[in-house]
Amino acid sequence: MRLVVLGGGESGVGTAILGLRKGYDVFVSDFGKIKDNYKEVLTSNGIAWEEEGHTEHLVLNADVVMKSPGIPEKAPMVKKLVEKGIKVISEIEFASPFTKAITIGITGSNGKTTTTMLAYHLLKSAGLNIGLGGNIGKSFALQVADDKFDSYVLELSSFQLDGIVDYKPHIAIITNISPDHLDRYDYNYQNYIDAKFRITMNQTEDDFLIYDADDEAISEWLTKNTTKAKLIPFSLTKTFNEGAFLKNNSMEVKINHEEFVMETEHIALEGKHNLKNAMAATSVAKLMQIRNATIRESLSNFQGVEHRLENVLKIQNVQYINDSKATNVNATFFALDSMNAPTVWIVGGVDKGNDYNELMSLVREKVKAIICLGVDNRKIIDVFGNVVDIMVEVNNMNDAVKMAQRLSEKGDMVLLSPACASFDLFESYEDRGNQFKHAVKNL
Ligand code: ADP
Repeated sequence: MRLVVLGGGESGVGTAILGLRKGYDVFVSDFGKIKDNYKEVLTSNGIAWEEEGHTEHLVLNADVVMKSPGIPEKAPMVKKLVEKGIKVISEIEFASPFTKAITIGITGSNGKTTTTMLAYHLLKSAGLNIGLGGNIGKSFALQVADDKFDSYVLELSSFQLDGIVDYKPHIAIITNISPDHLDRYDYNYQNYIDAKFRITMNQTEDDFLIYDADDEAISEWLTKNTTKAKLIPFSLTKTFNEGAFLKNNSMEVKINHEEFVMETEHIALEGKHNLKNAMAATSVAKLMQIRNATIRESLSNFQGVEHRLENVLKIQNVQYINDSKATNVNATFFALDSMNAPTVWIVGGVDKGNDYNELMSLVREKVKAIICLGVDNRKIIDVFGNVVDIMVEVNNMNDAVKMAQRLSEKGDMVLLSPACASFDLFESYEDRGNQFKHAVKNL
């Protein structure tokens, strides 16, 4: 059997190694450049590869193709494969038949990484032999090749889910859905929503779907479609006989006639959105029968993930917060919502079709100054120009942070939450967040 892997990154190389161990004739083809460390792994395993282009006859003779999540379905080579009737699948689909481990699959527009890391923390601290993968860390396929774990927590993007056929997680989470990546879904929001819900399409009565019951797109999908999985909702406004909710300043999770209650102030993660993430992750822990005392301890000591509402430093009594991972309006909405003091807000970058009006009431209430950090800031200036007294444009992080210091006073907060991708001025959101932290530390 010939396995062709399109894309020589983390999931591509992991899949290649798994394929090799399972006896496939493997070929890796990348339209761009393959990183040196991955080239070494491929070469030392005797796996054939090419970069900076696809050689058609070496790709189109595949029995099965694993397409890396970054490659769009519209890529010419993918189209050719599909026309020829060759099976094109994702890493998760390729790897899952080779393991008996159960998986917990987490998708959504925002909060995937935080919820995945928190669920992993809850289960690992409880002593489960559990792996972490998907969009995070080592690829799932590579870990399946080593076959060390009984279960996995997987962060799944809609692109991973587009390429599944039979894969099903035992426990699925949809954290929330808001418009994102629409360029990959023919600018049709419904296509993107449907892609997220593929996470539940193969689930059976023995499986679970945990979801945000406050989310419009999710609720609407569930009224129009069905899933066999048992539904476990979470909400900040409703209560349930089975599910997770708020009651008297406590988070309650009721599952299988058992109850977990914890005062929200003892949960280390801050902000309403993180309370939702905690509800989802705690529901997983209850389904996996983790003891309440263990869950409580893990929720009280989980410090969050870098670049997600990360407290950097307090300087002259001004708190600097790095939320560089906020690349859409919904994420920034929750960041602004968590601010409890007058805020100097650093925003801007590459906008994927943002409607900034959704932030209007929060900006009126909390933002004292806006620092635009993007190549093209016109939209932000148009929307907020008359709302906020001070509006400044800068084109590098050092200037942004220095300006923020100048505009802030004792007790204020400085928030980097760009609502945009970073590629106009930075290499990645990590680079943007690191530059912010560096500049703050140099103040
Ligand atoms: P993802 O992996 O889905 O991008 P992250 O956990 O990396 O999610 O968080 C991305 C951004 O969204 C961060 O700015 C974070 O503060 C914010 N965020 C986290 N959880 C949620 C949520 N449940 N709803 C909305 N925004 C969230």
